[in-house]
Amino acid sequence: MSTLTTHPGSFIAGAEHRNAGDPLEVVNPADGRAFTEVATATEADVNAAVEAAADAQKAWSELAVSKRGEILGRAANHVEEHIEELIPLLTREQGKTLRDSKIEITKAVDTLLHYVGLSKSLRGVHTPNLDPGVDGMVLRRPLGVVGAIVPWNFPTTLLCNKLAPALVAGNTVVAKPAATTPLTTLRFAELLAEGGLPEGVFNVVTGKGSVAGEALVSHPLTRKIAFTGSTPVGERIMAQCAHGIKRVTLELGGSDPMIICDDADLAAAASAASMGRFYNCGQACLATKRLYVLDQVADDVIAAVAAKAAKLQVGIGSAPGSQIGPLHSERQRETFERQVAESVAGGGEVLAGGGRPDDPALANGWFYSPTVVLEPPKDSPMAREEVFGPALPIWRVKDLDEAIELANDTPFGLGSAVWTGDLQSAERLAAELDCGYTWINSPTKVYDELPFGGLKASGYGKEHGSEALDYYTDTKSVVVKRAL
Ligand code: NDP
Repeated sequence: MSTLTTHPGSFIAGAEHRNAGDPLEVVNPADGRAFTEVATATEADVNAAVEAAADAQKAWSELAVSKRGEILGRAANHVEEHIEELIPLLTREQGKTLRDSKIEITKAVDTLLHYVGLSKSLRGVHTPNLDPGVDGMVLRRPLGVVGAIVPWNFPTTLLCNKLAPALVAGNTVVAKPAATTPLTTLRFAELLAEGGLPEGVFNVVTGKGSVAGEALVSHPLTRKIAFTGSTPVGERIMAQCAHGIKRVTLELGGSDPMIICDDADLAAAASAASMGRFYNCGQACLATKRLYVLDQVADDVIAAVAAKAAKLQVGIGSAPGSQIGPLHSERQRETFERQVAESVAGGGEVLAGGGRPDDPALANGWFYSPTVVLEPPKDSPMAREEVFGPALPIWRVKDLDEAIELANDTPFGLGSAVWTGDLQSAERLAAELDCGYTWINSPTKVYDELPFGGLKASGYGKEHGSEALDYYTDTKSVVVKRAL
């Protein structure tokens, strides 16, 4: 019999709700040990959450948009006041370093506040005199209840990317965090409620995607699903949303290329490649997952990137000085190790890392040393699949044509990065790389001001920017004849 305390598991209509499903353990990725367990949501629990969100939606949508912004702003400030409590909780269940937890949660709150600002400009359109004496109006209408399905790599930012535009636009939300990272999301919801978010406006159900996620997607009252996660699950959700003609946004996998040209600031480029690949232990959709370097400067860049990888301090997320924590789960590490091993067996040369760290203090966690692999085969997992862990493959290329061809030779199309001192090369690369975001001479950071979302197998729809609001509203055209 388990000696762990069991968390009731959901947060519905402003209060804890005890799920009826079996409890699932929450494991600390740094030591592989369960430290609590959380009751999982059944279909009935999900129904209760969706109904609470539906009950709250009318009153929430009838508030002036500036009032919704004001309420959300106060609630977000309350979360910010408790950030020191959230940081270790996120590190414990996710594995990332305390520094990265702080960056993540700060960014999540910033995103809420960004949309509070946008709430002041959310309006429709009025077109006078479509015909003599006839005016046209385009009204924005919320969709209703939004289901937000969130993965474990950035539990709070990926939540707030959905929550902020959805709430400002007048929807209510039921979120399902990953089964392995429920705790920060539950506490986040409590804090928003304590900060004044009305009951039912934001609800959380925890548990497995195969039960709670499916129930949320298929519930007749959810009018939109906003999903971040793997491409196969995204495809499945999109197909399910066809039933009921539900709206969907899908922020899926990526295999982002970086191209370093011979005229680039090589030191800055090598730092960006290292940061872009190893941040969050390589578990980010927009991580730099493939590096192409022009031949003329390849030796210098390869040496610099390998040296940076070798210097990174792998350690328990809560220990001072750790720069890279563990992978999130045993399953993630197994998948990742298979991808690296097959790529190396196919001919890739390991220049840094290449295995688990030998520090005995890390033996029970899901750690892996930052790894650099030179020239793995172009059909290997490191070239073809999304690699969600700390390993960077590097290829030499002879010119920009080859770099562009290889960079685009992927099923994914999320982001790309380019380092060059030449404006024409920069413009050409920005135009020809098939993806939703290109960083030029700039670290791969997502800005709330700009829309973010992928092409091809990387997804559909946009998060961030004022564009995200379009994905949480419908328009309605109204024609008014003024003169009777
Ligand atoms: P998943 O796509 O399986 O999980 C993401 C979220 O979807 C979780 O909350 C999950 O719940 C939920 N989910 C799973 N199945 C369903 C379903 N049938 N209906 C509704 N919701 C569902 O990703 P994984 O966590 O399994 O990661 C696998 C791989 O996906 C990674 O290695 C990585 O390559 C990629 N990935 C990419 C991310 C990105 O940011 N682009 C984020 C996460 C993963 P639960 O976990 O509780 O089962």
